[in-house]
Amino acid sequence: MASSLSIYEKLTSEQSTAEPSIQPARSEIYLSIVIPIYNEVDNLTNLIDQVAGVLELCSYSYEIICVDDGSRDGSTELLQKLAAIRPELRAILFRRNYGQTAAMAAGFEYAQGQVIVTLDGDLQNDPRDIPALLDKLAEGYDLVSGWRKQRQDAAFTRLLPSKIANKLIGKVTGVRLHDYGCSLKAYRAELVADMNLYGELHRFLPALAFIEGARIAELPVRHHPRRHGQSKYGLGRTFRVMMDLMTVAFMKTFLTRPMHVFGVLGMVSLSAGSVIGLHLFVVRIILGQAIGGRPLLMLAVVLFLAGIQLFCFGLLAELLMRTYHESQNKPIYRVRERVGF
Ligand code: UDP
Ligand code: MG
Repeated sequence: MASSLSIYEKLTSEQSTAEPSIQPARSEIYLSIVIPIYNEVDNLTNLIDQVAGVLELCSYSYEIICVDDGSRDGSTELLQKLAAIRPELRAILFRRNYGQTAAMAAGFEYAQGQVIVTLDGDLQNDPRDIPALLDKLAEGYDLVSGWRKQRQDAAFTRLLPSKIANKLIGKVTGVRLHDYGCSLKAYRAELVADMNLYGELHRFLPALAFIEGARIAELPVRHHPRRHGQSKYGLGRTFRVMMDLMTVAFMKTFLTRPMHVFGVLGMVSLSAGSVIGLHLFVVRIILGQAIGGRPLLMLAVVLFLAGIQLFCFGLLAELLMRTYHESQNKPIYRVRERVGF
């Protein structure tokens, strides 16, 4: 990391002598802290103080980006005031509440740093863990995820569902983390730039990143009970997480080769239907028995039609997948590094 950083600095300083007025800010900031804020008025001042307090002790150049997700408790006004007096603080104010994923996506979009750290705006995460996350990232990872080893939330409505969800997500996505729900994470900016977030997919960022070929690590972090304001989620989140998990599983297996999946299923169904059909043909024509009342006939027809449908679906999915990649200029591969260019 250290060597690539110095090369990066050299490149950017060369660039800035040649074209001093173009893009001055982008290269200067090393770290962007992204914090979604929804009705956190009693936490906000303290939060910014604590984050800035930790980062002042480190040598990174940094910015704090707070994304106000349509708060209605005065967080918006307070954030505006704070951003006016603190040069390191930037605020993005949404027109209405879009949800945590949208808030984080906006933060990623506007972040200028080479490294992005996200955390919650309710002080449940501890900003003192940030340097350790960055150190871990510098070991050569693309994403370092916090693990709330001693999580301070309600046992039945929060801890239990989350335990089950974590196990399940690990199984389905193949990324074995203890704690997907922890907001405190560190990312390399170029990793995040490649990812589009929808629904409540911020929880699956490690899994999506893994699909993109990221190197992922986990680090135990502190966790505190919420002191001010209320949690925005309840048991209902469990179901939404399950739906999102299905989407991610789909993305993981189908995205670049839908025909391999649907085509094979279609083939199996079509072949089974054909074999049964052939059998019935023999029974009817050669043995001369009636087949009109046989359930097997129904099965043959259903399998045959389902096979054709699956096949066509696979072809359509191929077309859609191509549009998906090409409309976004998304290559089907991710380059980690280029050497000797
Ligand atoms: N949040 C948000 N928009 C929402 C819900 C939550 O920006 O619609 C923010 C919230 O302000 C907090 C973070 O997302 O900073 C996590 O929310 P919360 O603490 O309620 O989740 P929990 O810790 O209970 O899982
Ligand atoms: Mg919280």
